[in-house]
Amino acid sequence: MTQLEDSLARLEQRITAACRQAARDRGSVRLIAASKARSETEIRALHALGQQRFGESYVQEFAAKCDALAAQALKPPPEWHFIGAMQGNKTRAVAERAHWVHSVDRLKIAQRLSAQRPAGLPPLQVCLQVDLSREPGKSGVPETGLQALADATAQLPGLVLRGLMTLPAPSDDPEQQRRPFARLRELRDTLNAGGHRLDTLSMGMSDDLEAAILEGATLVRVGTALFGPRRPQARQT
Ligand SMILES: *Cc1c(COP(=O)(O)O)cnc(C)c1O
Repeated sequence: MTQLEDSLARLEQRITAACRQAARDRGSVRLIAASKARSETEIRALHALGQQRFGESYVQEFAAKCDALAAQALKPPPEWHFIGAMQGNKTRAVAERAHWVHSVDRLKIAQRLSAQRPAGLPPLQVCLQVDLSREPGKSGVPETGLQALADATAQLPGLVLRGLMTLPAPSDDPEQQRRPFARLRELRDTLNAGGHRLDTLSMGMSDDLEAAILEGATLVRVGTALFGPRRPQARQT
């Protein structure tokens, strides 16, 4: 067994065990392989093991890998999730390639993604990234701005608003880990009570995916537990 096969099998066991503990179907949680800083070869190897969904965090790196792998016509084609922070001038490359964007945190980005989504593609599926920590410099819409952003985003023709995403501060304490995930679920429920139809909670990474699944995560974004520690790399956007 290769190391990647072994990591994928262990991760699958963790997800299955958490689903069992939460009394949820395994099919209700999807794994996004967070592949930033991983090579095309690593992505292809994981795809060959049956992993179809990949999440990228930097626009230029995403576009380059997506195009290189598209040229190889993998079957089934990878499903690309853009999960990183986005500057307004870099939305086009994402709108043209991604199936999902998890990190919409302001209306300007949503409007640009909608306007730039090519007419021949289905609407882009998006999650709103919510900043629950309120630490300065963190990405995400604050809770106070969420309702207005959701209402406006849901009107955009090039997008389908699917749910919410959060990236909480790391914690080693499982109880502490659950708090922001529980809050994100409440926020989703509140929006749905007001007429939205959000079916997605993108939350949970290598170190806290069990806590996220217990609180209702439907998409978990996992990098290190699959590919091993990331090599240090130059800052990118
Ligand atoms: C890198 C990244 C992940 C994966 O983090 P790991 O701790 O390596 O599993 C998840 N979400 C986002 C937004 C990321 O940038």
